[in-house]
Formats: sequence, C-alpha cells, structure tokens
Amino acid sequence: MSRPILAQVNLAALRANVARVRALAPDAQVLAVVKANAYGHGLTRVLPALDGADGLALVELEAAVLLRAAHYTRRILLLEGFFAPDELPELSARRLATVVHHEEQVRMLETASLARPLEVFVKVNTGMNRLGVPPAAVRTLVERLSHCEAVAVIRLMMHFARADEDDGIAGPLRVFDEACKGLPYPRSVANSAGVIRHAETGDDIVRPGIMLYGATPFAYDSAETLGLAPVMTLRSALIAVQELQPGDAVGYGAAHVAVRPQRIGVVACGYADGYPRHAPNGTPVLVCGRRVPIAGRVSMDMITVDLGDVPEARVGSPVVLWGEGLPVDEVAGAASTVGYELLCAVAPRVPFAVTEVGRIDLEL
Ligand SMILES: *Cc1c(COP(=O)(O)O)cnc(C)c1O
Repeated sequence: MSRPILAQVNLAALRANVARVRALAPDAQVLAVVKANAYGHGLTRVLPALDGADGLALVELEAAVLLRAAHYTRRILLLEGFFAPDELPELSARRLATVVHHEEQVRMLETASLARPLEVFVKVNTGMNRLGVPPAAVRTLVERLSHCEAVAVIRLMMHFARADEDDGIAGPLRVFDEACKGLPYPRSVANSAGVIRHAETGDDIVRPGIMLYGATPFAYDSAETLGLAPVMTLRSALIAVQELQPGDAVGYGAAHVAVRPQRIGVVACGYADGYPRHAPNGTPVLVCGRRVPIAGRVSMDMITVDLGDVPEARVGSPVVLWGEGLPVDEVAGAASTVGYELLCAVAPRVPFAVTEVGRIDLEL
C-alpha cells in the first residue's frame, strides 16, 4: 500500500464532453486542444477518448512528434506556430499544421524549401494583443502565403480575450470579419467559451480545451449546467485525525485555532501534489462524500480539514480534492484561480489511474 493520493481520469466523461462539443457546434470541425499534456491529464492517457475529434491542437512540437510516432493520423495544429526556420522540415515531415502570427514567420516560409507544403492558420490580432498579425496586414500576408511554395492550404484564425463575457464576442468578430472580408478560406475562432456560443461565432473549425476536461470557461455557469462531466478526480484519504481543544492551533503559522473542541482530518495531499498553497481556510474538500472546509495552511504534503460535520470520518476515510462531487471550478474559485491552473498543476509524484465507467485500470 502506498500513499493514498490518486488522480483518476474518466475517459467516458471525456468522450461525453467531446460529444457535447459536437452537439453545440454540429457543422464545425473539432480540434481538441491538448496543450500542457492535455491540461494535466496526460496526452497519451486521454488520446483513446479523443477519437470523436477531427484533430488535435497544442503548442509543444515534441508532443506533436510523439503523437505521429504513436500513429495519430489526423490533423495536428501547433497553436503558437514555429519559432525558427529549422523546425519547418520537421513540421513538413510530420504533417503538422501551424499558426502563423507574425510577418517574420511568413518570411521564414518564403525562404523554406519543404518536401511537403504546410497547412497554415493565419492568426489575426483582433484586440487581445498577444499573438496575431494586425488586421490591416492580413490581406497582404495572406496574398504572400498564397504564392508561397511551402504553403499548401490557408485558414484564418483568431482567439478571443473575453469570450466568457456577454459583450466579449461581437467586437473582435467584427474586426476579424472586416480584416478577412472576401478571403475564401475556412475560419477558426472559438475556444470553449466560443463553442458554447457557436450560434454567434458561426465557426468552421472549433478549438475547445477546458470544456473537454469537464470544467467551465465561465465565471457564472457551472460545468454541470453546461452539460459537462468532470474528467479528472483527485482522490486521497485521511491519514490522521486530531482532537483539538479550544485554543489549540493547526499546522504552519497556526493559521487555524480551535474555538471549541474540534476534530481535524489530515489529508495526504499538499502543494507538492499540485494543490494550491494559497487555498484559504474554508476551501471545500469532500470527506466521505461530504463537504468540509480546509482549516489551517496548506503544506507541502498535507492539508487539514474540519471534520465537524462528518463524525464517522476516521483514518482511511476517502477524500476528494476535486472532480466527481466537487467541481474543480469551485476549489479554484475559493483559491482565487481557475480550474485550468489546478488541472495543469497536478505534480509528477501523483499516480494516475484511468477509468471507464465502472472499471479502473491502475497505472503504476
Ligand atoms: C488554449 C487555447 C484554446 C482552448 O481554450 P479553452 O479556453 O481551454 O477552450 C483555443 N485556442 C487557442 C489559440 C488556445 O491557445
């Protein structure tokens, strides 16, 4: 028996979330976003559940190469594109589609000599001011790319800064439409929030990420109300129970002090497992399926919780940090972050297990 922490990845939930994307954007192609090791779930681990998608999108060339080595044959898009010309032969050999987001990349393509020309997604800066060519430059760059021997097909792309806000879509989409007017190429604009608002974006190629993993891109609509199922459940167990008297303190900095006799549960999960250290007193945790609050500071290997409402809790009682029964978004909200960050941050020392409904295969 080892330390009880375990991240369970439910492939049935992932398949259901892919189906949800299809239902929301029935006329669009779906590129499942799997950057950052599939948002911390493990790219090779989740791959079998992504066969309902038309392709994948990520930022890491090494991961894309591994996907091809694993005989993944569908489209793969590099969301940040390439960084230097010496990557281009690899992109060509592996049939990797690439974002082109600044003029320098166009120049690199113009001087490249490739065995097989590339599919490129020209990214337009519609106001996020991170990646993308200025709207006024789109026509000229697309014209240049259309004459470039290293380019086989062109797509037009943008990324929303505020697709999760009511007024966050119309403005950038207007800029995009204006910049791309008359250009006869398929378009890719939507992240998860944009997929959920597909009627407004009318996208050809959608790029959902967080929703596939069963978390919400919105501040106010929960994953459950959006019809999404949690894919990762981070589980652990109580490894100790302490009986406190009034005035007794718990953990580093004595950040929690009992005002009455109190049972404290010690959970084998800390910031070295990826749990956010800044999660304050009151952050929810499930013990025996019931919500209890964190009491005391998160430490490297442990958190401490108030067992007041769970009198049957004892050493060995099951704990859920997030996932089934406790949305990661709620934990993230309590810790002033987003579900994205928590999922991506699960640490290498946490063992993973893959489940299909009712079946658990332990990966050791
Ligand atoms: C990460 C990313 C996405 C996915 O965003 P979600 O909010 O996770 O759906 C889509 N497009 C681009 C360009 C991205 O970098």
